Amino acid sequence: MMRLRLYGDPVLKQVSEEITEFGDNTVELKATLIKHMRKYGGVGLAAPQLGMSVRAFCATIGEEDKVFINPLITNVGVGYVRSREGCLSLPGIVDELNRIKKITVEYQDEYGTHYEDTYEDRDAIIIQHEMHHLLGVLFCDLLSELKQDIIKRKMAKLPSKLVKAYKREVLKSKSQPKR
Ligand SMILES: [Zn+2]
Repeated sequence: MMRLRLYGDPVLKQVSEEITEFGDNTVELKATLIKHMRKYGGVGLAAPQLGMSVRAFCATIGEEDKVFINPLITNVGVGYVRSREGCLSLPGIVDELNRIKKITVEYQDEYGTHYEDTYEDRDAIIIQHEMHHLLGVLFCDLLSELKQDIIKRKMAKLPSKLVKAYKREVLKSKSQPKR
């Protein structure tokens, strides 16, 4: 099992690299991402959250756990949707955020096949959250400076015991959506 990277880990601030080779490596990457997303009870997980700085994430879309490799937003609809977001890398932090309501995304699967699909509401929110991870942006970076300061202080105080407890808890809890 790979270690879940938490707020403060430099890999979460890096811009991820394009994936150019498809094969066993990307088949394995998909399996690893989905395995960990399920383990931690998330609805999305980006490769940097497991310490891999590559442009890939997985997400539960409908009934399916999908992988998105080299995703690009190619079109956006009109309007925003506000929702409460959390992140597996930010234990205990939940806040409200605006996201674009409807997006069209071009991406590749683990075999390198190209797709272009349109997503709305919940699915669009998850995809935007994960795509930000690939740019080294966490959802808290999109909040006001005041809120960011509060989160920074909360995270700094997170004792390693609590982090361990959180990781145990995250294994059990499947109820709250986390990304
Ligand atoms: Zn996240």
